[in-house]
Amino acid sequence: MTATLVRAGHVLTMGPLGDVRDGAVLVDGARIAAVGPYGELAAAHPDAAVVGDEHGIVVPGFVNAHTHLSEGLIAGLGETLTLFEWAPAVIVPASLHLDRGLARTGARLKAAELVSSGVTCVNDQFGHMNTGSLASLGSVDALDEIGLRGVVSLGAADNPTGDVSLQVAAIADEHRALAEHAASTRLVRVGLATLLVSSDDLIAATVAVATELGLGTHVHLAEVREEWVDAHLRWGHSCIAHADRVGLLDLDVVAGHVIWVRPDEFGLLAEKRVAAVYNPVANMILADGVCPVARLRDAGVRMAIGTDGAASNDSQDMLAALKTGSLLQKVTAMDPAVVTAADMVRMATIEGARALGLDERIGSLEVGKDADLVRLGGDRPGLAVVHDPYAQLVYCAGPADVADVWVAGRRLLEDGRHTTLDLAEVVASGRDAAARLAAAGGIPLSELGRAAPRAHADRSRPAQGQ
Ligand SMILES: [Zn+2]
Repeated sequence: MTATLVRAGHVLTMGPLGDVRDGAVLVDGARIAAVGPYGELAAAHPDAAVVGDEHGIVVPGFVNAHTHLSEGLIAGLGETLTLFEWAPAVIVPASLHLDRGLARTGARLKAAELVSSGVTCVNDQFGHMNTGSLASLGSVDALDEIGLRGVVSLGAADNPTGDVSLQVAAIADEHRALAEHAASTRLVRVGLATLLVSSDDLIAATVAVATELGLGTHVHLAEVREEWVDAHLRWGHSCIAHADRVGLLDLDVVAGHVIWVRPDEFGLLAEKRVAAVYNPVANMILADGVCPVARLRDAGVRMAIGTDGAASNDSQDMLAALKTGSLLQKVTAMDPAVVTAADMVRMATIEGARALGLDERIGSLEVGKDADLVRLGGDRPGLAVVHDPYAQLVYCAGPADVADVWVAGRRLLEDGRHTTLDLAEVVASGRDAAARLAAAGGIPLSELGRAAPRAHADRSRPAQGQ
């Protein structure tokens, strides 16, 4: 296979080389063979195919550090509900009926969105409650089929209607089956996940399996006020303190949210090397609160960025997460300098890779690393004028500006077109599967889709459907 020179006006390596004007990345097989000025690389590699020109931006592929591909078929429901209302109304009914086939269909649909917004690695906490279905393996099926890199973990909570001890055993079996399945793929790894709303037995079992298999864990931590209050009522201390007491923080932990965190807990999170994931769009939709990103980073806590699930975002558009994430920090602090566009890009690339323990292979454009990269085309309106490539990427670019995406040297997106999936078929099968899942779960689509404003909401807002 001929090597390819991926060229752009600005190559943001996020590594020791910094930013290269009119630069290029030489992709040879699955790896990056060279990075530098285009002129030099073109002279040294005259036979290489060239993609791109002296305009646009090339950046390492984005790492979406927190999502739930299990929600691929239930987006856009319950907009006016808080997390503790929305989960039982939308998530639980669907998760009781997810199976491996539906999971694959939903994950393919979301993977298409991810790739289109420049994501090359996704950290999926696949949540379901259909014990024994091994539904989470469907997410691995989809990622493997499309060629998207990922870490998949089973985000299991006990089924409240079932026998708790049986559930714990079945969940542990699925963790192991998932690990075995992921091991058969080239790009998908497995992690473990748990939810602190689970029974103490399940949390303990998850910690035990993670320790036994040497796996990292992916948790939700301190997302909403109700969780903070619930933890104090249940255990007499905060959920972060509880995660520490049960040994969770002694594992490699990627923790979604970390919003309801006290300043005196920042040091513990830094010391335990917890990677916190900021999910601005989902946090705003569910009115969770605001992650103190700058203060956590200043305290030494590792930070990454995620979209969160397809039903709590409600898209998988990573570029929207970058822009919203920056804006939310600025307006909350009433300080436009509190985070910069470059901070956001770092968190979405090298820091995200570090959070997942993958920074030796991805996260920056360096010789020897896997060729996971994105080209945003200078022929697109959003990238036509580039004064500051970071600001342009975070505040101006959208999926329509993403021209090409490579994962391990394989081009998944070619001039905006998917090469590893039939988009029309993925969309049609997703539509059909979503209808079947909603019917099976008895999800009242019309009511939840047109939820009335809450009693205390702004009365000036017109009630929909009336
Ligand atoms: Zn989540």
